[in-house]
Amino acid sequence: MAFRFSAIDRIPQPPTQATTKGTLVHRALELLMLRSAPERTPEHAAADLATARREISTHSDFMLLGLDEAQEATFFASAEVLLDRYFSLEDPTTVRPIGLEVMVSTALPTVDGSVALGAGDTPVVLRGIIDRLELDADGELIVTDYKTGAVPGMGFEQSRMAGVNIYAMLVERVVGRRPVRVQLLYLSKPEAIIAYPTEQKVRAVEKRTAALWSAVERACERDDFRPRPGKLCDYCSYKPYCPAWGGDPAQAIELREMLKDGSRQRLGANPVPRTGDAPIGVGAL
Ligand code: SF4
Repeated sequence: MAFRFSAIDRIPQPPTQATTKGTLVHRALELLMLRSAPERTPEHAAADLATARREISTHSDFMLLGLDEAQEATFFASAEVLLDRYFSLEDPTTVRPIGLEVMVSTALPTVDGSVALGAGDTPVVLRGIIDRLELDADGELIVTDYKTGAVPGMGFEQSRMAGVNIYAMLVERVVGRRPVRVQLLYLSKPEAIIAYPTEQKVRAVEKRTAALWSAVERACERDDFRPRPGKLCDYCSYKPYCPAWGGDPAQAIELREMLKDGSRQRLGANPVPRTGDAPIGVGAL
């Protein structure tokens, strides 16, 4: 159901402290990685966070949070903590980035191996933003994804890793080489979850993605998007409009209008930046 709200009805989700903090910390780490290796120190990271803070302070995603002075101080202090913890996960002076915030996309395959077609018979595009693409000491590719949310429990770790293998598939299709390692750096704990994509895992992800697309097509044909209530509903912006919680999906359009009004009232239209834990998306729906 959340997929229908988001991808079919294109109802935007309001920014939250978590997503905006993710954007802030990702930007600071991007600026840090743009520095020469010896300059990637905690002191420079603090300066980069200050730059990122100046940038985000006038952005609608931050303004819409409506934080008072004390809440704002807490917000930026917690971002500092996340950035400090990053240094316990790796030594940034040893990282050899070849791409930051890299947009990768590829035509989605179907279960029979052809290209999936969406509206107007245009190819369906699978795309994602890679936080950091780098080379290891042997010149092999590594994909790094920063995470500013909580480390997933064991039950969710598998689904997180499925997402990771989608990144591996995208890189393989775009660059022509499979990354040897994909790492999720959870700054909140801090903890690194590392995966070593294999040919078998990437092919399995291709099959699962194609099967998922078939399911989406069937759901679109029947207009049958069922809610799957669970723990994540508590974090879902669409909950007030979800039939599982007594809501009316047709009313969700008001969320879009509210966000437009909120943006206009608070600061006017700014482009929306990427969110911290940006998911992989399916385009051309
Ligand atoms: S409230 Fe729960 S079931 Fe409804 S759309 Fe959100 S996540 Fe899905």
